[in-house]
Amino acid sequence: MSYSPSSPAPGAGLHELLPPLTVHEAAVESARCLMCFDAPCTHACPTHIDIPKFIKKISTGNLLGSARTILESNLLGATCARVCPVQELCEGACVLGSEHKPIAIGRLQRHAMDYVYGKKIDIFRPAKSTGKKVAVVGAGPAGLSCAGELAKLGHAVTLYERRELAGGLSTYGIIVLREPIEVALAEVAMVQRLGVRIETGREVGADPTVTELQQNFDAVFLSVGLGNTPQLGIPGEEYILDGLQYIEGSKLQPSQLRIGRNVIVIGAGNTAVDCATIARRLGAERVTMLYRRTENEMTAYPHEYDFVKREGVTFWFLAQPVKVHHENGVVQALECVRISLGEPDSSGRPSPRPIPGSTMIFPADQIVKAIGQHKPSLTSILNLRTERGFIEVNDAFETSSPGIFAGGDCIRTRGSASTVMAVQDGKLAARSIHQRLVNHG
Ligand SMILES: Cc1cc2nc3c(=O)[nH]c(=O)nc-3n(C[C@H](O)[C@H](O)[C@H](O)COP(=O)(O)OP(=O)(O)OC[C@H]3O[C@@H](n4cnc5c(N)ncnc54)[C@H](O)[C@@H]3O)c2cc1C
Ligand code: SF4
Repeated sequence: MSYSPSSPAPGAGLHELLPPLTVHEAAVESARCLMCFDAPCTHACPTHIDIPKFIKKISTGNLLGSARTILESNLLGATCARVCPVQELCEGACVLGSEHKPIAIGRLQRHAMDYVYGKKIDIFRPAKSTGKKVAVVGAGPAGLSCAGELAKLGHAVTLYERRELAGGLSTYGIIVLREPIEVALAEVAMVQRLGVRIETGREVGADPTVTELQQNFDAVFLSVGLGNTPQLGIPGEEYILDGLQYIEGSKLQPSQLRIGRNVIVIGAGNTAVDCATIARRLGAERVTMLYRRTENEMTAYPHEYDFVKREGVTFWFLAQPVKVHHENGVVQALECVRISLGEPDSSGRPSPRPIPGSTMIFPADQIVKAIGQHKPSLTSILNLRTERGFIEVNDAFETSSPGIFAGGDCIRTRGSASTVMAVQDGKLAARSIHQRLVNHG
């Protein structure tokens, strides 16, 4: 599927928030860059895109060369141009940020990417076949990056994806305001044109089995992401909507997504912010995010927190849900207890302690939970060594089972997971797998 800079998103009422830069705006913005030596923005980018180089090429009108510079480091440059938390990464490190406005690196990157995708230009071609076969499990950013890089090196890659569409959370989880679905699917198509065979509707573990993969391929890369939203374990939970499904509905079937008038979103991470944003943008009169700790512990990026407050979303901190009140399944309210914070728990954050007798009732006609994701599920089938439920890998991205590599959210034991980190894992794992296949036959 192709996208063009002006293609509207499918979600009714939801469109990409930032408009593309015009040619003039891109020229002016790129001319502001100081082309720093040993540029801090490049260091801050997890995929280490040579940022001054690609910006310089934009300033001289060489958009094709600019796109090549980006894609050499980051095969999913169109997605990352849109979804990267640039305030925390490249733009946050830009030397102009302290006294002036940082360079709009993300939007310039998007300008170059829109050019090549709009003109249907493929930058890379697959290399001569090595005769080696690699299976990649999971077609999110980590899997697509790994598969594409391996195909560029001449390996025959089959990518198994259990969902109907490839793209992982870029397709199903990142809100249209940030990334329209066409952009994710255009990158999937680009990886297919590199020669990667993508088999959707195939869940590894069931069909094919892991043993079949090990028998039929020279190496396996696991990029299965994380699982579903965990249970809160409270009465009436069956009437709470799952935040990931809420976002998915807003992307794939927006006309069928029911939005309440008075919505409570449980959680205070980036996914919760996204759910609250959707509810507001699609017509909820009142949206409240409810969190059992305080704003000091919330995991949403500061710029996301500021954004959602500007959207008119309000917050209840130090409140923990205990029961959903409903009439015949129609949600009426969320019962909570007040919390006091105690000693740090295993997450390093202060542990929430319910205050006895402090019940509070919050009226609501829709409740959405966005409280994280379960750990990867294939781990137990494969009997892999794990750390806090995440797959353990060595510096070469190899798991405790030789020949099985892993990357992306499923190995992210620390720090907040992001698309660009998954892309980098996929790229580095592809290099390790290539070395193994070339050196050890
Ligand atoms: C709601 C939400 C919003 C986000 N917003 C942003 C953002 O704005 N910016 C940002 O940088 N990051 C964001 N993230 C994080 C980012 O999406 C992830 O870090 C990134 O997608 C991880 O890529 P991945 O390839 O590891 O996993 P995923 O994208 O989760 O892909 C894993 C894939 O594996 C498939 N799979 C799983 N098990 C199997 C199996 N057994 N067989 C076959 N296929 C399988 C899944 O169906 C899925 O397609 C967001 C995350 C969420 C949940
Ligand atoms: S730090 Fe800022 S000014 Fe320097 S090269 Fe990077 S984008 Fe340009």
